[in-house]
Amino acid sequence: MFEYAPAPESRDIVDIRPSYGLFINGEWVEPQSEERHKTINPATEEVLAEVAWAGEADVDRAVQAAAKAFPAWSGMPGAERAKYLFRIARIIQERSRELAVLETLDNGKPIRESRDVDLPLVAAHFFYYAGWADKLAYAGFGPDPRPLGVAGQVIPWNFPLLMLAWKIAPALACGNTVVLKPAETTPLTALAFADICRQADLPPGVVNIVTGAGETGAALVNHPGVDKVAFTGSTEVGRLIARSLAGTRKKLTLELGGKAANIVFEDAPIDQAVEGIVNGIFFNQGHVCCAGSRLLVQESIAGDVLEALKRRLGTLRLGDPLDKNTDIGAINSAEQLAKIRELSEAGEAEGAERWSPACPIPDRGFWFPPTVFTGVAQSHRIAREEIFGPVLSVLTFRTPAEAVEKANNTPYGLSAGVWTEKGSLMLWMASRLRAGVVWSNTFNRFDPASPFGGYKESGYGREGGRHGLEAYLDV
Ligand code: NAP
Ligand code: MG
Repeated sequence: MFEYAPAPESRDIVDIRPSYGLFINGEWVEPQSEERHKTINPATEEVLAEVAWAGEADVDRAVQAAAKAFPAWSGMPGAERAKYLFRIARIIQERSRELAVLETLDNGKPIRESRDVDLPLVAAHFFYYAGWADKLAYAGFGPDPRPLGVAGQVIPWNFPLLMLAWKIAPALACGNTVVLKPAETTPLTALAFADICRQADLPPGVVNIVTGAGETGAALVNHPGVDKVAFTGSTEVGRLIARSLAGTRKKLTLELGGKAANIVFEDAPIDQAVEGIVNGIFFNQGHVCCAGSRLLVQESIAGDVLEALKRRLGTLRLGDPLDKNTDIGAINSAEQLAKIRELSEAGEAEGAERWSPACPIPDRGFWFPPTVFTGVAQSHRIAREEIFGPVLSVLTFRTPAEAVEKANNTPYGLSAGVWTEKGSLMLWMASRLRAGVVWSNTFNRFDPASPFGGYKESGYGREGGRHGLEAYLDV
C-alpha cells in the first residue's frame, strides 16, 4: 500500500450558522414549538449547529404556505417552471464544492463521494426534470396531466441532498408545491437548499423545509392538507405510514429498505467483479438501500474471489471523511453504529466467520471497519435483515437456478447485480430476479433518466425517469 500524505478538503468554504429556523413561505421563521436540537459531525462528534424541531403547528403553517402557493405555481406555463428548475440546477453546480463539504461534515461520507457522486447527481436530477416541465403533455399521461397539490416528503440521512433532489425536482416540474422533512441527523444541506431557493427567486411557499424528528414526519404525512406523500426510509416506518394513509385520498409512494444480491458467475472477470463488490457494499459505508449486501458467488471461483476481495479490502482507507484519499468515512450516528454492531455480533453467534482487514479506527466519532462474513446460511439474520453498514455476507451457489432462488429469497426487492460475460445468461437472470433494478457487470450506478424503486417490501412507486413523473400527476 502506498503511503499517502493527508489531503484534507478545506471546510472554510462552508458557512454554517450556529442556529437555524424553519423555511416556510420563502422565509426563515422561528419554530412555534421552541424546540431545538444539535446536529453533529459523526466523524468527530463536534456540534455543527442547532436546528429547529417543527411541531404540529409549524407543520400546519408550512402546509398552508404550500397550499397557498399551489394555484399560481401549477397555473404557470411549464416552460416558466422549467426556468426556475434550470436556475436551481445551475446554482447547485456553482455551489457544489460548498454543498459537498457541508454534506460530508453533517453525514460523515467521504468527500470523494459527496463531490464526485452525490453533487453531480443532484444537479443532474434538477436538469433532467427541468427538461420535463414543459413536455408533460408528451409524457404518456394524457394531453394535459394535472399536478396533485401539496406534496409532503420525508427523507433519510444516507444521501441527504440527493434524496431531496429525487423528491423535489419531479414534484416541482409537475406543478406541485412541497413541504420536505429531512432526517434529524442530516438537516444542513436541506437548509442550504432553502437558501438556494431564495437565490433562485423561487416564489414563496413552493418549497418549505421543516426540520425535526419522526414526530415531525408523522405530523406532515398525516396533515389533512397534504395531497401526496413521498417517503424514503425504513420498511418499518413505511408500513406505519401506509397504515395511517389507508382510506384517505392521499397518493403514496414508498422507497424502503433492501437486501440486494450481487451475483458473480465463474466466467466473470474477477478483478472487475471485485471492484463491483467493493463498490456495491462499501460505497457510502454501506448506508445504501440498494447496497449489494449479499454476495452470491459461484462455488467454483469462491476461493479466488474471496482472496482477491480480501486483498483489495486491505487497501481501503478509513478515516477523515474530508480527506480526499479516504474511501470509508464515518457511520452516520451512534444509533446506526449500535445496530451494525448488534447484527454483526448476531452473525458470529449464529456461526458465520467474520473477517476485517487490519484497519486503525479513529478515537472519536462513529466507525466500523469493512467486514466480510463467510459461511453464511440463508437463515442467518445477517443474510435476511438489512444491516445498512459496511458488512458483506457471502453465500455460494452452483447453478443459475440456485442463484435466482437464493437472490429472490428475501422480503425485499430493490436491486441486484449480475456478473457474467454471457449475454444470454445475463438476460435469463434479469428476467427472473424480483428487483426494481438489475445491474449488469456494474453496481450502484444511478442516472436521473432511469427509474428506481422496489418490489415487495422495498416499497412501491418509481422515482427517476419518465416513470417518476407519474407519482406527482393526477393520473
Ligand atoms: P427511517 O427511520 O424510516 O427514517 C426516514 C425518515 O422518516 C426520517 O426523516 C425520519 O425522521 C422519518 N420518520 C421516522 N419516523 C417517522 C414516522 N412515524 N412518520 C413519518 N416519518 C418518520 O429510516 P432511516 O433509518 O433514516 O433510513 C434508513 C432506511 O432508509 C433504510 O432502511 C434504507 O434502506 C432506506 N432507504 C431507502 C431508499 C430507497 O430509495 N428505497 C433510499 C435511501 C434509504 P428521523 O430522522 O427523525 O428519524
Ligand atoms: Mg449530522
